[in-house]
Amino acid sequence: MKTIGLIGGMSWESTVDYYKIINREVKKKLGSPHSAEIIMYSVDFAEIERLQAAGKWDQLTEKMIEIADKLERAGADMILICANTMHQMAPKVQAELGIPLLHIANAAAEKIKAEGLKKVGLLGTKYTMEGDFYRKRIEENYQIEVLIPEAEERDYIHQAIYQELVNGVLKDQTREKFLRIIAGLKNQGAEGIILGCTEIPLLIKEEDSSLPVFNTTELHAKKAVKLALK
Ligand code: GLU
Repeated sequence: MKTIGLIGGMSWESTVDYYKIINREVKKKLGSPHSAEIIMYSVDFAEIERLQAAGKWDQLTEKMIEIADKLERAGADMILICANTMHQMAPKVQAELGIPLLHIANAAAEKIKAEGLKKVGLLGTKYTMEGDFYRKRIEENYQIEVLIPEAEERDYIHQAIYQELVNGVLKDQTREKFLRIIAGLKNQGAEGIILGCTEIPLLIKEEDSSLPVFNTTELHAKKAVKLALK
C-alpha cells in the first residue's frame, strides 16, 4: 500500500472527514482490520485565512511547497491538499515535487464526466468560484460547463464558509439559503452541483439537494485510496 500525504487543517473540520473516508475506504477494499498509511501535516488555519484575505498568495504558495516537501521527505507517495481554495497554487507545488499531487478539481470532474453531466454549478469560496484555476481546469480539460451563483450569493457563501463552516458552526438557516442558491443554479440549467469547498459537505447532504451533488472531500479522498492500492 502506498502512503498518502495530507496537508490538512484547512480547516480541520473537513480534514477529520478526509481521515475517516480514507480509512473506511481502505477497510472496505481490503477488509478489517486494514487501515490506511497516512502522514498528515495539519496547519494553523488562522494564519492561512489571514494570508488569503491579505492576498498573500505567494507566501501561501511557499508554505504549501515547504509542507509538501516535508511530507515527501517523510515518505509520502502522493500529496493531497485538503481544500479546494488552496489548489490555486497546485501547479507550482506539483512542479517542486517528485511525487504526484492529486488535484481535487480533477477528482470532481472525472466523476461528473463519468455520470455524463455537461453543465454543473459550483459552490465554494469566492477564490474558487471566481478564479480561473478551478473552473477553467474543468471546462477546458473535461468539456463541462461550470455555472457560478450571482455576486451577492457568492458573497453570502464565502462569508458562511469563513464565519461558520470552518468553525464547525452548522445552521439550518444557512443550509436553507444554500439550497435556494442550488435551486437557482438548477433553473439556469445546472444538472449537478460541485460542493467545491471541503466544509460544504458538512452542511449539505445529497438528500437535501434538488440536484445530484459532487462532494469534493469524498471524491478526493477516494481517489487517493484508489491510487494507494493500485
Ligand atoms: N476548505 C475550504 C475549501 O475547500 C476553504 C478553506 C480554505 O480557504 O482553504 O476551499
